[in-house]
Amino acid sequence: MNADRIDLLGRPFVPLISEAEILGRLAVYAAELNGRYADEPPVLVPVLSGAFRVFAELARLLTVPYAVDFVKLSSYGKGTEGGSLLLQLPLSQSVEGRQVIVVEDIVDTGRTSDYLHAYLRDRGAARVELYSLLFKPDRFAGQHPPTAYGFAIPPAFVVGFGLDYAEAGRWLRGIYALAE
Ligand code: 5GP
Repeated sequence: MNADRIDLLGRPFVPLISEAEILGRLAVYAAELNGRYADEPPVLVPVLSGAFRVFAELARLLTVPYAVDFVKLSSYGKGTEGGSLLLQLPLSQSVEGRQVIVVEDIVDTGRTSDYLHAYLRDRGAARVELYSLLFKPDRFAGQHPPTAYGFAIPPAFVVGFGLDYAEAGRWLRGIYALAE
């Protein structure tokens, strides 16, 4: 792993998970989905903006004829403090009777996960699963933990592989944690 410490908007971040580790976990998850959903194509619901990189990798690896419908939620506003939850982009197609897989970058307190489960159930989804690349079990206080996740991480603020710090750092190929 690249051991370099990097600065984003004047704050220091250090490597936590390498790109190779991330891609390895996503390959295992994609293979599992290819097996489980071969006869029952799911609707993937990536949560913008953070999940774009996770979704891109899954999309490259999936062989089942999935549908896709993005939603956008804002939770963190401009920094590392939790703001109010706002549905900025709703679903654009029906999920009635469908198997839905929400694709997330990270599950922290679980507020977003609980919101999306209720939202998708209200719209008649037959089943809602949630895959998150990252999960902070020590911070989680919701009703719906991820159905599956790539890595459990400590309660640090992280960036990279799609995750941002005030829109900085989404491009980073691995996951970096705030080191202060
Ligand atoms: P939750 O609703 O589970 O508390 O938080 C989910 C959302 O908060 C994520 O989709 C993400 O936007 C944001 N979030 C939570 N923890 C982090 C973090 O460590 N880094 C970044 N960049 N965003 C986070």
